[in-house]
Amino acid sequence: MVNANAPVIEVKDLKKHFPVKKGLLRRTVGHVYAVDGVSFAVKSGETLGLVGESGCGKTTAGRAVLRLTEPTSGSIQVDGTEITGLSKAELRPYRRQMQIIFQDPFSSLNPRMTAGDIVAEPLLVHEVASAKDRREQVAALFARVGLRPAQMSNYPHQFSGGQRQRIGIARALALGPKLIVGDEPVSALDVSIQAQVINLLMDLQRERQLSYLFISHNLAVVEHISHQIAVMYLGRIVEYADTRSIFTRAQHPYTEALLSAVPVPDPAIKRQKRVLQGDVPSPVKPPSGCHFHTRCPYAEARCKVESPPLREIAPGHHVSCHLR
Ligand code: SF4
Repeated sequence: MVNANAPVIEVKDLKKHFPVKKGLLRRTVGHVYAVDGVSFAVKSGETLGLVGESGCGKTTAGRAVLRLTEPTSGSIQVDGTEITGLSKAELRPYRRQMQIIFQDPFSSLNPRMTAGDIVAEPLLVHEVASAKDRREQVAALFARVGLRPAQMSNYPHQFSGGQRQRIGIARALALGPKLIVGDEPVSALDVSIQAQVINLLMDLQRERQLSYLFISHNLAVVEHISHQIAVMYLGRIVEYADTRSIFTRAQHPYTEALLSAVPVPDPAIKRQKRVLQGDVPSPVKPPSGCHFHTRCPYAEARCKVESPPLREIAPGHHVSCHLR
């Protein structure tokens, strides 16, 4: 019997360090610590929002989970099976279960292929269904994501931005995956279209018991779709809790700053605005101790030398800060 509460994917201490090479001999002179020991799980039929400013490592984490970029170390279990050591051929059945939707629906769709061929491509690559069945399946996917099957013969440039993202979603659904990684899937769209695409993703989740790892730089975008939220800063998770706790009882100063930028619909409620000073420091030479100390308004002397562990401060609520 399938345990609905079991994680579809469980990631432990995942690291991805890119070597920095210099000189004629291309010697390794350092590393970009893009992802530096993150752990999280996504349950069946649920969404984990992975949030942080650009350059915090969230996209690399999403790609490493799918093994589109090879992790440096750590564990990735899909339905209880460790996939980090699997060969390309061994990975194939798991690839079917895990798909990705990209940020820019225009550059992620081949302009020389018709929309129908783009959505059919995964079925072809994985040798699923006959040509006739493929056509029927693609037509059904078009209808499901809000496109007309008659549009299957159109090319990407003939669609609007929102429609192109619907093509991306249909392509991701083609193989009947369990997990979809959405890498800023609505960031390039107008606000009104963003809501439509998020509603579509939520409907599909309910219908198909899909799990999402939803990556975004914007907490407001992940609020409605996420069951859990992990906040990343410079390659590490600094706060991880259910969505309600993040929005009502955020504990990490970085999460507080991200939240203060989220508009509140009720004008009677005012959030204290906390503007983050400066940019995210370079992941090649992250600050010592707590990575956030260079921008944190509460930083103390020990923050510069001691790295705070991610501790559970309330059931299911984890924070990495010396003051909590
Ligand atoms: Fe700020 Fe120190 Fe907490 Fe880091 S550990 S978030 S620097 S108070």
